[in-house]
Amino acid sequence: MEKLCNRVGEVYEPFKVRFLHREVRDLAPDEALIRVRASALCGSDLHIARGLHPSAPLPVTIGHEFSGDVAAVGSEVRELQLGQRVTVEPCIVCGQCEACRQGQYGYCQNISFTYRNGDGAMADYVVVKAANVYQLPDYLSYETGALMEPLAVATHAVRRAQVALGETVLVIGTGAIGLLTAAMCRRAGAARVIVSGRSQGRLALALEMGATHVIDSSRTDLEQEVAKLTGGKGVDKSFECVGKESCFLQAILTLRRDGTATIAGIYESPQVTFPVGRLVTHEIHIQGTQGYCWDFPIAIAAARDLPLEKLITHVFPLDQLQQALDTALDRKSNSIKVIVKP
Ligand SMILES: [Zn+2]
Ligand SMILES: [Zn+2]
Repeated sequence: MEKLCNRVGEVYEPFKVRFLHREVRDLAPDEALIRVRASALCGSDLHIARGLHPSAPLPVTIGHEFSGDVAAVGSEVRELQLGQRVTVEPCIVCGQCEACRQGQYGYCQNISFTYRNGDGAMADYVVVKAANVYQLPDYLSYETGALMEPLAVATHAVRRAQVALGETVLVIGTGAIGLLTAAMCRRAGAARVIVSGRSQGRLALALEMGATHVIDSSRTDLEQEVAKLTGGKGVDKSFECVGKESCFLQAILTLRRDGTATIAGIYESPQVTFPVGRLVTHEIHIQGTQGYCWDFPIAIAAARDLPLEKLITHVFPLDQLQQALDTALDRKSNSIKVIVKP
């Protein structure tokens, strides 16, 4: 194969991106080369852009939510065809540790992500393991296909919470993960999906994604509203998708007895204080959720009837990666998902 030239976006100092120009490397037998068509900015990219990501110090290439076409495959790859439209699960696992050997690759002791190894997807091309590549069905565009990664995150959260038919759930937060979690709770069978947030526009979008009730927590007391909606009982399951102490408390204090809170937010301030007696008096459960493990196929299948395009608020060409990043960082832009296209 002739050498292809690639641009890869890299955050080199806080708030600043530049392009690295380099040749696409030769593929190992089990790898595939993906021609990137759409790449979405993620909340974690914004932590990186601020220089505050705990496990991805600068400089680092960015982009891990993407779709594209198969441009080349290694000698041992049989499952992929050239030109196939695909998305990619961007984690890299060792396959050898105990967790991997038990199929629990999300707990791999050596887990990493393609972008941290220099294979960021804010690029023209990216080299990945063929086993991490999933075909996009016709109902997904490149743009919505790039959202399978955050949808897999929401899928993982909802599966961990074991949301069941007829349940009442509360989702705190109306960022992409909150909205997608609400959508997946409804599709998992929850009868009532209450979403709380502080923006009327986002709450209206939550209703379009599948929420049955929305609460503007900037105007009303969330605990009181939930008590009203549940006859004082509380919700079966709550999801914290913000990463703030006040939201953590809401997730705990709105639960019914024996209910489960699932914490998905990234906490910039690591300590929280909460009334620990509630664990005893209400026998509640608190668990975390992170990433995904066997969730991509479920997310892709469930995406068939999700209005994902409504989450895409901005699209930029790759040349304008800096503007794309500035837009995603600017609260006034009211962006949800910013997509970059090479
Ligand atoms: Zn992401
Ligand atoms: Zn492993």
